[in-house]
Amino acid sequence: MNRPPVFRFAPSPNGFMHLGHELSALLNADMARAAGGRLLLRIEDIDATRCRPEYEAAIYEDLAWIGLQWERPVRRQSEHFDDYRAALAKLDALGLIYPSFESRAEIARLVAERGSDWPRDPDGAPLYPGDAKSMKPAERAQRIAAGEPHALRLDMVAAIARTGPLSWMESGAGPSGETGTIAAEPAANPAIWGDVILARKETPTSYHLAVVVDDASQGVTDVVRGRDLFHATGVHRLLQALLGLPQPRYHHHRLILDADGRKLSKSTAATALRELRAKGVTPAEIRTMAGLD
Ligand code: GLU
Repeated sequence: MNRPPVFRFAPSPNGFMHLGHELSALLNADMARAAGGRLLLRIEDIDATRCRPEYEAAIYEDLAWIGLQWERPVRRQSEHFDDYRAALAKLDALGLIYPSFESRAEIARLVAERGSDWPRDPDGAPLYPGDAKSMKPAERAQRIAAGEPHALRLDMVAAIARTGPLSWMESGAGPSGETGTIAAEPAANPAIWGDVILARKETPTSYHLAVVVDDASQGVTDVVRGRDLFHATGVHRLLQALLGLPQPRYHHHRLILDADGRKLSKSTAATALRELRAKGVTPAEIRTMAGLD
């Protein structure tokens, strides 16, 4: 018997939701309904410095107000750190991750030294400028034993050598209209993301690792999310292949932009759902404002 497809909406509780989140949530609900599928909600709260309980409470309230229905229990990433540690151990056993000890300030200094044309990843962050990958195993072991804080990075070149080329099925579109079968970029160009962080000093995971582990453990078959995450999908496919996880279908949707053509921000009150609700805007009007129907 065919299992129903599984969709998920995965907000981060680091601010109040705006129309862009609403579009994502509603599209997930619409597509799940049309496909006879299930809809899950996942709270992506790995960043303890930015996530707050009142934002999480607001997510439930705002989603219920627009009439979204999701399955319980909700998965909260902060309750699954052991799952991410297990995935890191697997990648470590394959010899694909290494610790880097630089602080944020040191990284910024190294990047500044490299000059203004130092490459950046699709999110705009400078590629890792350090040389921790070539550190001698004895020094690594000694610094870790001494309790030095460190991040864990994916050795991108070694990872790609292991998987070979990868692709995914895209039913939405990327920033340049890419659709259909999409070749994951890192295989052709490892330097697009560089040696991405998979775990931080203070957290045993990063967005990329947590999203891949969770989509697999929740049996997600269809990832519907904003076009700003299109390029990240190349990293996600790589991690799925390395960890032996199934690959979902992807649908990256348009973003809602502000009057200046920028992506909406959680700090702009004007498009916050709760502000709109307080002004008397109805859930039906929210759908129209998000460009649905
Ligand atoms: N938590 C991410 C965000 O709020 C979404 C992650 C995803 O859908 O893959 O932008």
